[in-house]
Formats: sequence, structure tokens, C-alpha cells
Amino acid sequence: MRPDVKGRPLVASQAGGPDARSATTTTASRITLDTAAAVSLASLPAVMSRRIRVDDTSGCWIGSPVNRDGYARFGGGSLHRAVWLQLVGGIPPGLVLDHREDWGCTSRACCWPAHLKVTTSRENILRGASFSAVNARKAACGRCGAPYDLFNTYFRPDGARDCRACVARRTREYKARRVTSDLRLAA
Ligand SMILES: [Zn+2]
Ligand SMILES: [Zn+2]
Repeated sequence: MRPDVKGRPLVASQAGGPDARSATTTTASRITLDTAAAVSLASLPAVMSRRIRVDDTSGCWIGSPVNRDGYARFGGGSLHRAVWLQLVGGIPPGLVLDHREDWGCTSRACCWPAHLKVTTSRENILRGASFSAVNARKAACGRCGAPYDLFNTYFRPDGARDCRACVARRTREYKARRVTSDLRLAA
């Protein structure tokens, strides 16, 4: 868990308060913003971070490419969700991630966890009812039932998720097959 990104807005306007109008305050807030963004972006796998550019004014992490609705895509799901799973943790079943305009977020393509909130918003649930969104929301591996959490999720280079437990099992099976065929060749 990262206390700095969990449910607390870090945008310049909030950090500086409603009176953050002077150039000095703005500059100070922006440095804090950039530092926070740099640290967190660096803790993402390159396959995610290279799709994100930080907007200096809003602090938004603008992801690409985006789908018709303006959300950044990643694998079969959305990039903001993948980033959240990576930096913050799981999303309880039935809940969704919502962009927070009132926290300074300016774009649906934004992936910065500090601009996102886990919510039950009905509007968001309806919006997220597409096949890819449903697929990305699956909380467990369809083959072995292991949870798609921070520890068991493997991100393939194309951004799709895989289950570490299943990857390990496939590797074991592959090695076992190879040993068997080597023995047969030697006989
Ligand atoms: Zn944002
Ligand atoms: Zn599995």
C-alpha cells in the first residue's frame, strides 16, 4: 500500500489550498507534483509507464492509446485499472474505479491513482459493462482460480494479464515433456 496515492488527492490546487495563486506556491506545488509522479511512474513496469505522459498542469497521467470513450487501453482492459492494481492493490468485487474531476482530473485517459477512486457509481458500472471492461474486471484466473492480485498477476509484453501460478505450472509441464523426449531419444 502506498499512502500517498491511496484515496487522497495530490493535485496542486488541493496541495496549495484555495489560496494557491502566487507564483511561488504554484512552483512549489508543481515540484511536489512532478516528484510524486516521477517516483510512482518509475515503480511501474516499462510496458505501462512508456504509454503514459504526465500533464504538468493537472498532474494527470495521460495514457494512450485510448478507446472510443476516451479511456486508455491496456491489454483487454483499461490502463488506469492496470496501474491501480500495480501501485495501490486490488479492487473489491463489484466496485469500479472512477476519475475524479473534483480532485483536478481532466481526462478519462488519466491513470494517476491520486485522481482515481474506488466507487460503486451506477453510472460507472453501466459505462464499464463492455466485454473488455468485464474481462479486465475478472478478479481471478479462469483456469486455476488464483486471484489476479499484485502478487499473482503477470503482465505480458502486449499488456495482457496472465496468472503466475499457471505460468509456473506450464513451465513445469514443458520441462517434464522435454525430459521425457530427451530420455526417449537417448534410449
Ligand atoms: Zn487525472
Ligand atoms: Zn491460473
